[in-house]
Amino acid sequence: MTKRIKSSISYKLFGFFSSLILSANVWAAAKPAESDIVSQLRDQAAKSTLPYDILESLTTEVGARMAGTPQDALAVKWAVDKFKKLGFDKVWTEPVTFDTWIRKHESASVTSPFQHELKITTLGFSIPTPESGIEAEVIHFDTIEDLIESPADSAKGKIVFISRKMERFRSGKGYGPAVKARNTGAVEAAKKGAVAVIIRSIGTDSHRLPHTGMMRYKEGVKQIPAAAMSNPDADLMERIFARKKPVKIKLRLDSHTGPKYTSHNVIGEMTGREFPDEKVVIGAHLDSWDLGTGAVDDGAGVAITMAAAKVIGDAKHRPKRTIRVVLFANEEQGLVGAKAYAAKHGGDLNNHVTGAESDFGAGKIYAFASRVAEDNLAVVSKMAKLMKPLGIEYLNNEAGPGPDLIPMYRLGMSVFSLRQDGTDYFDLHHTADDTLDKVEPENLAQNTAAYVVFAYIAANSEQKITRGVLKTH
Ligand SMILES: [Zn+2]
Repeated sequence: MTKRIKSSISYKLFGFFSSLILSANVWAAAKPAESDIVSQLRDQAAKSTLPYDILESLTTEVGARMAGTPQDALAVKWAVDKFKKLGFDKVWTEPVTFDTWIRKHESASVTSPFQHELKITTLGFSIPTPESGIEAEVIHFDTIEDLIESPADSAKGKIVFISRKMERFRSGKGYGPAVKARNTGAVEAAKKGAVAVIIRSIGTDSHRLPHTGMMRYKEGVKQIPAAAMSNPDADLMERIFARKKPVKIKLRLDSHTGPKYTSHNVIGEMTGREFPDEKVVIGAHLDSWDLGTGAVDDGAGVAITMAAAKVIGDAKHRPKRTIRVVLFANEEQGLVGAKAYAAKHGGDLNNHVTGAESDFGAGKIYAFASRVAEDNLAVVSKMAKLMKPLGIEYLNNEAGPGPDLIPMYRLGMSVFSLRQDGTDYFDLHHTADDTLDKVEPENLAQNTAAYVVFAYIAANSEQKITRGVLKTH
């Protein structure tokens, strides 16, 4: 090899390397650091009116959308159209089949020792009363536990009234202890011989609006009608009971179960640039109860997660993995869409990197928690840094799943929990008061910004997030 050729080769090599360096520099200039990309998207989302516009559209063009009603189908169509209009890369639906229940008439009044109309609502899947109603003496229990501990036949031929009031907390932790009366009140009352059960609404408000929600029967225990009354009416009942005279109520409920119905989970994706099969799942439930327009439960979650994925999908630098938004069918009547999703996708768990559901209204997010393998905590601390400017603190690695992610979580999927301020949530939950005017647009935007940070960082992580043993590419 002559000197000349050698120098030509070294010149060529130099040229090759210098062009590499040059292109790396150009790339560096074109591609900012991940934290800069995410900060910019976060700040953009925090000012965005998109989530509010989505929620305004859902609550105006669809409104109440109880599972199995014609509005359920309308909501599915709305969601498909909205995903497409927002430019999601993939949009599809997956069938979810369930039993249906329809509310018709509901009324109650105190007939003795005084006369009062009561504001009540039938609990989901309650049987009706006879057409002429039930009029009976009322037996009062403070709590479901008192009812359970009362003697057999304590409520024989009577209407059971349970008056425990739900406590207000930012975290919503008053719900669990209180909701037991709604879930199991009919079964426990029937065991003691009752002909019906009426509970104080599971809610923290003082409005004269009852809160609906699911109740359950148990095989082998007689089915009795079940209703909830508004908080002011429950206060009135307590004052009447304080007079120590026999109290009578007349209750008339007309509801019926319908044929099986097939709704759909609606799914939209923004495809990841390196590992399109691996996804970060965010979402909410599309159905609502029938009394309000489902603005806070869970239209807000629908709007927040759709908008967050849209912001990421429109970004100049998309994350490595796919952002999948799942709008679950029929959460309210038993996580039916969630179970269908897990039945279909549980086998693809390895590609479900992590997830978070927004289903606690429209309050600001004040904290977040993770449930990931120890090795992933460095990724979580990246999120924490980027969440801080939104007023969000990192809590711990003990997060539980949102309701619709419970089945996937049980199969082993890692989850995050972005905690919303739920101080007012149970004022509105499952009532006619769950309407758009209760939602602050800037709170929705703050939520969206937090979901952008979570979803982007999780989807772009070098390490693949898992719940257990770390798997790398
Ligand atoms: Zn909900």
